[in-house]
Amino acid sequence: MSDCLFCKIVAGEIPSAKVFEDEEFLAFEDISPAAPVHVLIIPKIHLDSIHEAGEEHKELIGRIHLAAGRIAAERGLAEGGYRIVNNCGADGGQTVPHLHFHLLGGRAMTWPPG
Ligand code: 5GP
Ligand code: ZN
Repeated sequence: MSDCLFCKIVAGEIPSAKVFEDEEFLAFEDISPAAPVHVLIIPKIHLDSIHEAGEEHKELIGRIHLAAGRIAAERGLAEGGYRIVNNCGADGGQTVPHLHFHLLGGRAMTWPPG
């Protein structure tokens, strides 16, 4: 997707503060952090949202969640806890149409979301 912001970050055309990368996904700091720790984890392939994911993506999505847990531990969040968020579509609050998961931590979260 040549006009996709996160595809451009994957391609290195837009800089990002990388946290972790492997052949399948990339983790980087959110440009506008909503918590002391706010990391985005994205597949390198373009999927608009979780709604476009299928059976063929289940291992990738599982691995992204395990990576989120590892990054949380590296950031000292294992004891206090953290939140992994996926916003899907307009009503879900998604603003960048490339599947991504937010890792948020370092402060107490509220529930339910606004
Ligand atoms: P969404 O609202 O789609 O769930 O999350 C999109 C996230 O991407 C937001 O938290 C926003 O701050 C972040 N974001 C938007 N543009 C950029 C950018 O150019 N670089 C980085 N690192 N994050 C971005
Ligand atoms: Zn994309």
